[in-house]
Amino acid sequence: MKVLGLIGGMSAESTVVYYQTLNRLAREALGGIHSAELVVRSVDFAPIAALQAADDWAATGAILAGHAKALEGAGAQAILICANTMHLNYDQTAAAVGVPVIHIGDATGRALKAKGVTKTLLLGTRFTMEKPFYAERLAAMGIETAIPEKPQRERLHTIIYEELILGVTNPASQAEVMAMIQAGIAAGCDGVAFACTEIGLLLDVDAMPAPTVDTAVAHCQAAMEFALG
Ligand code: GLU
Repeated sequence: MKVLGLIGGMSAESTVVYYQTLNRLAREALGGIHSAELVVRSVDFAPIAALQAADDWAATGAILAGHAKALEGAGAQAILICANTMHLNYDQTAAAVGVPVIHIGDATGRALKAKGVTKTLLLGTRFTMEKPFYAERLAAMGIETAIPEKPQRERLHTIIYEELILGVTNPASQAEVMAMIQAGIAAGCDGVAFACTEIGLLLDVDAMPAPTVDTAVAHCQAAMEFALG
């Protein structure tokens, strides 16, 4: 099995999901008491979130590139940036290392296609929803995207940064995000992407009214395929 390097802590709440999911997938694939071979660099998210808010993506990219190099030095044979938003810095991170950086958008696109989705509602931080990097990655795979209206986008961004990243799941927020999903389906989406690695902590991906992909899980599945391939 190849060693996977995780850039985690973005947020710590969803890095737990990565750790659990990768170990579960290794056990399911290999049986018995097998588990995943991992190296984790878990960052302090506060300074990174401050740079995001200041739109200083050159600085966040330099930080991620440094962590990727450290993981490669620690023996990682592939790297995962354990967040959607921070794939804004995918190119800078991938250029810093000689091992593959497994892209969460590609993993998500493949999972959406496997479910027959052609137009997905994209739910994530305002960076993931509004900047072109994520929608373009899915468009290159033939998947159209739609996003909620601006007030709902702002609300979702706040729910992510002020609740989910802090480990808070609020029933009122659950209802608000469900309403966004219902509106997206009514507007023609035939699937949903939880394109923030914390949304699966708020809503049950298997209980959605349309085929839905939890990007954290899809990312882990792609990584475990690589590790065992
Ligand atoms: N984990 C989140 C994501 O998947 C949000 C935190 C971040 O901005 O990295 O985008």
